[in-house]
Amino acid sequence: MAKREFPSRRAPIFSSIPDEKWNDWRWQLSRRLNSIEEIEQVFPLTESEKRALSASHLFRVDITPYFISLINPQDPDDPIRKQVIPTESELAIFSGMMSDSLSEDAHSPVPGLVHRYPDRALMLVTTQCASYCRYCTRSRIVGDPTAQFSRAEFEMQLDYLRNTPQVRDVILSGGDPLTLAPRLLEELIARIREIEHIEIIRIGSRVPVFLPMRITDQLTDMMAKYHPIWMNIHVNHPNEITQELALAADRLTRAGIPLGNQSVLLAGVNDCVHVQRQLVHDLVRIRVRPYYLYQCDLVAGAGHFRTPVSKGIEIIEGLRGHTSGYAIPTFVVDAPGGGGKIPLAPNYLLSQSEHKVILRNYEGYITTYQEPQTYQSHDEMTCSFCRNKRDETGQEGLFGLLSGQADTIVPENWHALHQRSQAIPTELFTPRTSVNVRNCLPILPKIC
Ligand SMILES: *Cc1c(COP(=O)(O)O)cnc(C)c1O
Repeated sequence: MAKREFPSRRAPIFSSIPDEKWNDWRWQLSRRLNSIEEIEQVFPLTESEKRALSASHLFRVDITPYFISLINPQDPDDPIRKQVIPTESELAIFSGMMSDSLSEDAHSPVPGLVHRYPDRALMLVTTQCASYCRYCTRSRIVGDPTAQFSRAEFEMQLDYLRNTPQVRDVILSGGDPLTLAPRLLEELIARIREIEHIEIIRIGSRVPVFLPMRITDQLTDMMAKYHPIWMNIHVNHPNEITQELALAADRLTRAGIPLGNQSVLLAGVNDCVHVQRQLVHDLVRIRVRPYYLYQCDLVAGAGHFRTPVSKGIEIIEGLRGHTSGYAIPTFVVDAPGGGGKIPLAPNYLLSQSEHKVILRNYEGYITTYQEPQTYQSHDEMTCSFCRNKRDETGQEGLFGLLSGQADTIVPENWHALHQRSQAIPTELFTPRTSVNVRNCLPILPKIC
C-alpha cells in the first residue's frame, strides 16, 4: 500500500484569498468564524447546531479558516466538526458533571499556577486559544476575552516558582501559550529560564493543529534559545494531520523541540481502534510521539463525548504489540477531585508465585517468567542517588510503603472507627508508622 499523502485543504469560500494572507497567522486569527451566518458559508448547519450557536452562556466558539476547511461539508458527523461546532448536547447536564473537575483551583497557590505534583508545575499563561475545543477541561476560565492574566499575576507565578526549588519542570498551558503576543511569550520563557532549579520548560499547545502558520522560523529560533524546551500538541483524529501540520512539526523538531501528542478519547470522534491506529501511525510519520490518551473529563459541556473507561483499555489492547511501541500513548484518567493522572492498561500479569510470574502477550499467548533466586537489592546506604534524593515529604504514597517510609496508608478516623473492642491492646493493631490520608503526615501510635 502506498503511503497516504497528507492533505492540504481550503474551503471554497477561501479559494480567492491570496496565499500571503492565508499563510499569515494574524490573518487566520482575525478571520475566525463563530456565527451561524459565517459558518453556513462553509457548510449548512444542523438544527441542533443552530440552536446551540444561538444559546446564551455558550462556551466560546471560534474556528480558524484553516481548521474549518478540514471539515467535510457533507458530513454532519465529521470528527473535526464535532470538536469545534457545538450541538445542543453541549447544554445538557449529566451526573458527575463539574466545572473544575480536576480541582485545579484548589491546587493553585497563586492565580494561574497549578502545583499538583511534587516536581512540576502548570502555568496557565493565557485564557485565549486559536480555536475552542467543545470538550475543553478549562472551559470555566478559557475563552473570556476580558479575563486575561495581569502582569502582577505573572510576577506572582514567577515568584512562586523561584521560591519552590522542588519544581524542575514548568508546563506552559492555558489557554494556548502560542497565542500570546510574541514578545510576552519570549519574556515569560526567558524569565522562567533564569530560575536556576527549573530544568525543563514544556509548552502545551494546539496551535500547530488549529493555526500551523504560527510556527514560523522566527518562533522556533526564539524557542531554541531557551533549550531544553519540549512541546505537547493535541491531535485527536488523523484528518487533522495535514501538510501544514507536518511542516509545523518539522520546523519544531528541527529546532530541537521534541514533540509529543496528548489526545482525548471522544465518542464519535476517535473511540475506535482503527482510527486510533491511523492517528498514531500518522503522528510518528511527522515525528510526533503519542504521549497520553486522556479519558474525557467530567466537565460541563462534554457529557456527550464521554466513553466508558473500558473503551480506552480496549484501544491500548489493540495497539500494544500490534504496532510500534513508539506509537503507543499511555491511557490516563485524570482523577476527578484532583487525584491527578492515573494510567490504565490491559492486564498482562495473570498470576504469580514465589519464583514465577505468569504473563500473557498481546495475542493471548500465556507464558511464565522465572524470577531470580538470588536477587540482592541495591544498597541505599552506598547509592549516592538515594542519599541526594529530592524531598517529597507527604507525597510518597504507595512508593512510601514500598521504600519503607511508612507501613500503612490509613483513612482519617480509621483507627477510632476500628477500636470497637476494649479487650485488645491498641498496640497490637496500631501500625508502627502510618500515613494519614488527609494531611499525609506520620501519626504516632495512640495509647488508650
Ligand atoms: C498533566 C499535568 C502535569 C504534567 O504531568 P506529566 O505526567 O508530567 O505530563 C502537571 N501538572 C498538572 C496540574 C497536570 O494536570
